[in-house]
Amino acid sequence: MPGGGLGKTVAKAKEANNKKKTECDELEEDVDDEDEKIRKMRTTKKGAIAHKATTVTASKLTCKGVSTKKPAYSSLSRLPKAERKRYAQGVKKGSKMCKKNGKPFRHATHGFSSGCAHTEARLVEDAFGSGKGEGCKLSMRIRWKQRKLIKDSKGKVTGAISGPPKDFACENCERVLCHAKYCGLKIFLCKDDGSKSGPPNCENHGY
Ligand SMILES: [Zn+2]
Repeated sequence: MPGGGLGKTVAKAKEANNKKKTECDELEEDVDDEDEKIRKMRTTKKGAIAHKATTVTASKLTCKGVSTKKPAYSSLSRLPKAERKRYAQGVKKGSKMCKKNGKPFRHATHGFSSGCAHTEARLVEDAFGSGKGEGCKLSMRIRWKQRKLIKDSKGKVTGAISGPPKDFACENCERVLCHAKYCGLKIFLCKDDGSKSGPPNCENHGY
């Protein structure tokens, strides 16, 4: 082969393989996998439309040097029962997080349904609930999709598309993440550009 082109290509591929994947690279792959799995589970028309407006989040919780991965899905009750266990469960009410000024944390009950159901809240509550809150680290890749309904000329909903996915938490979840940080859980969010950041806007939520 002229110029040893193949050798060069192989060397390049090897280099790419050896380049250590960042945590955010890993979580990006995980969120893709989960999104696809969930999409396939929801084959009914109603389910398919609902899936256009959901959040799928991939996460990695690291505690005392041991990491565990867990996906979270906002519309968990819509999945087949047997499949739900794999995902972050969260709390129905109350909170497993620490108190602030003597007061327990209260999840929002307005706005986007119950705040407890959001993926970020589920993951954070599961971490604290299993004793892996304070002193541990939770990295997340959020894929928050907002639905746009398609209507016919009479205004009847005929379908839906997902708007471009967002890589940040809603305002309710921002507050949850800021509280979790206050309670000693390090939080990192993987952004679209591959960078990592802590929970933003905590000052807006009194932290
Ligand atoms: Zn949220």
